[in-house]
Amino acid sequence: MKRDLSRRNALLAGAAGVAGLVMQGSRQSHGQTIEPAEPRLNSVEAKPDTANLQQSWIDAHSHIWTSDTSQYKLRDGVKVEDLAPRSFTDEELMAIAAPEGVDRVVLIQHYPYHGWDNSYLIDAWKRHPKRFRIVGMIDDQRTDAGQAMRSMLKQGVTGFRIGPKAGGDDFLSSTGMQQMWKTGAETRQSMCCLINPEDLAAVDQMCGRYPDTPVVIDHFARIGMKGDVNQKDLGALCKLAQHKHVRVKISAYYALGKKSPPHHELVPMIRSLYEAFGADRLMWASDCPYQLGDNNTYKDSIALIRDHIDFVTPTERQALLRTTAEKTFFFV
Ligand SMILES: [Zn+2]
Repeated sequence: MKRDLSRRNALLAGAAGVAGLVMQGSRQSHGQTIEPAEPRLNSVEAKPDTANLQQSWIDAHSHIWTSDTSQYKLRDGVKVEDLAPRSFTDEELMAIAAPEGVDRVVLIQHYPYHGWDNSYLIDAWKRHPKRFRIVGMIDDQRTDAGQAMRSMLKQGVTGFRIGPKAGGDDFLSSTGMQQMWKTGAETRQSMCCLINPEDLAAVDQMCGRYPDTPVVIDHFARIGMKGDVNQKDLGALCKLAQHKHVRVKISAYYALGKKSPPHHELVPMIRSLYEAFGADRLMWASDCPYQLGDNNTYKDSIALIRDHIDFVTPTERQALLRTTAEKTFFFV
């Protein structure tokens, strides 16, 4: 049961893990609070970069990491034994994604393991510059945040993960954060918000202050994590549609609603977002490898959008599975 609950709380990992580690020096991390199952690898090889990209889907959110800590140092206090699964390289990711028609992925920096060091993702991008884009992380306390964003744009980093730290709801107030939002408006690098429903009002205000900055809300702002979809929270998320550069990832089904396939109970929430934002501002994502636990699979995740929902046109389905993510992250 403990294991089960831990997995189901995987969605907490990003913010809670980051927050706990940054603000409280806690040893709680992805690897300890969450116990994703070993991914079910198979022998299918990922498609090469020369594959017909127009025939394939984009996963707008997955993590990767390596147990090669001689080359890629882990954050202070994190040991290789903490990595769960121990290894989830880009090859292991693509072995799961490619059979489902996914051949491009947006790689999301994983603070609990690698801190602010984005080099493992950047090296994956260097090996496969057509296949990957990166949502990196930088310390908003640094004074050169804008400059750092610009130089990382040349390394495939087209977005930055941001979110609240433990005990504080003012994660958007630092000077560095202002600089990041201002820079994003110029470079088109998205501010990718890993937030909870209670953070939506602050993000709404920030979008008003920086109306040209592209913003992506991760995982429905975690609405439905407690089971039921709170309609007031959903209304707050839909309200963000008034800012034309805000988009939403419809992702991480394993951690929302019934937290189990076929995830049909999430369809009404997806439909509400579709009506508020339109398919051109929504994108599917897996949150691999965290959905590879219990009875959840990568296939079940993409199948909800690819094979099940019936209220979109074929073009809109392509937007949810490819075009929105392409425009948002693959613009360079
Ligand atoms: Zn994630």
